[in-house]
Amino acid sequence: MANKTINVTKLPKDPGPAAWNTLVKEASRYPELTENIDVDWAIVGGGFAGLSAARRLSQLVGNKEKIVVLEAKCIADGPAGRNSGFMIDLPHELNSETYVGTHDKDRRQIRLNRAAIEFSREMAEEYVMEKAVFDACGKITAAASEKGIAHIRSYREHLDALGEHYELKNASEMKDWTGSEFYREGLFTPHSVMIQPAAFIRSVANGLSDRVSFFEASPVVSMGLGDVHTLTTPRGSVRAKNVILAVNGHIQSFGFFPRQLLHVFTYASMTRDLTENEVHKLGGRPDWGVLPADPMGTTVRRFSNYKGSGDRIVVRNHATLNQSIEVNDKSMKRAALLQERSFAARFPMLDEVKMEHRWGGRLCLSWNSMPAFGEVETRVWSACCQNGLGTVKGTLSGMMAAELAVLGTSSLLNEFLDYQAPKTLPPEPFLSLGANLTIRWKEWQSGIEL
Ligand SMILES: Cc1cc2nc3c(=O)[nH]c(=O)nc-3n(C[C@H](O)[C@H](O)[C@H](O)COP(=O)(O)OP(=O)(O)OC[C@H]3O[C@@H](n4cnc5c(N)ncnc54)[C@H](O)[C@@H]3O)c2cc1C
Repeated sequence: MANKTINVTKLPKDPGPAAWNTLVKEASRYPELTENIDVDWAIVGGGFAGLSAARRLSQLVGNKEKIVVLEAKCIADGPAGRNSGFMIDLPHELNSETYVGTHDKDRRQIRLNRAAIEFSREMAEEYVMEKAVFDACGKITAAASEKGIAHIRSYREHLDALGEHYELKNASEMKDWTGSEFYREGLFTPHSVMIQPAAFIRSVANGLSDRVSFFEASPVVSMGLGDVHTLTTPRGSVRAKNVILAVNGHIQSFGFFPRQLLHVFTYASMTRDLTENEVHKLGGRPDWGVLPADPMGTTVRRFSNYKGSGDRIVVRNHATLNQSIEVNDKSMKRAALLQERSFAARFPMLDEVKMEHRWGGRLCLSWNSMPAFGEVETRVWSACCQNGLGTVKGTLSGMMAAELAVLGTSSLLNEFLDYQAPKTLPPEPFLSLGANLTIRWKEWQSGIEL
């Protein structure tokens, strides 16, 4: 008998296709939940947080306890298969103009991020992922304007203070790397990893599937809380002793962290497969990724070695705050315009290349960049709000939720738990109006970096 029932107010809606997932040819679909089952652990959400929670749980509880993952859509169709695939070890804010972090805090964040990347590396090895899926190749932050170069300068100063290694690249080295004459300077840091995000997530699910049961197209629409919790999906239910909610911003649709989460969408486009002639005109390396020095700038990736999916370029930019956790066509159209412009500025030699896929995806941030984490009801844990860098922070929060639930304490968990709650947001309509105007202003200010 449930003591309290939570009706889930919204289910995830993702605009456009999860382009990376369309490139994964192997069928690895899981069934919809169509019966009533009993388990020890139910994980809601099959992204980075959900899958790392599943793996860490399976390591901690052995084979005796039953674990299921319920995913509203298909594995890797949500944000986990829509991102740009940068697993970044360094605190992202280091190149922000408003950055006010402390070295102790940064070192702690780096240790935590690297532990999550190491956890991912172990999965990549165990599940035999090829280099094109998990590539420990480092990352480049690049600048095309004076403002961008100033961002790189301040980034370098922070890295010097932290004793972190980096290499500067000049304009000609950037051209050798990317084929583009657009970038004037770059800063390479060696410990980040580039993933094919959908292939990575699906390989992890596949690797776990002899130990964990996956259900796709099985959104949790209500959760009854009691001695045993009951998660209801449209055609079945799960009675679970323990629940981990790994739904990122949709934790709010379960009624938790009200008025504490910012729901931001960001957008991307992927070209069609480049022809041999176009690849020749482009030059540069076959696989690379560049993050913008200006935080409002454009992320670009070229990839060519993933299982016959072609030689393609992906550009990501533009952001909108959508507290309804949904976006309209207008935002998609604006993103498309901005991405056409960014692509043309960087790759004038590819003026005939069209975009094959355009999409958007959800991020969840908090005002003070803190996670929405912890035991939110008895034996219900949240591993949500990854503050934009969910490939690493999602992995981390999933691992940590499993450790908190099973062990209660661990040295990594003690470091991770040293944070505050997400801050309460300003009221609407001021929040959305103010935030969207600020984003537009900052995008405009970022000039050619966009
Ligand atoms: C265009 C773009 C580029 C990005 N680039 C990067 C990048 O380069 N590096 C980086 O680190 N991050 C990047 N991100 C962010 C990253 O994708 C997210 O932070 C990450 O996916 C969050 O992981 P997660 O597991 O917490 O949540 P998600 O990946 O969102 O997974 C949560 C899952 O929960 C499911 N769900 C929600 N509600 C329910 C329900 N009621 N029942 C069942 N299931 C439910 C959803 O369908 C979803 O699959 C990018 C995002 C976008 C959109």
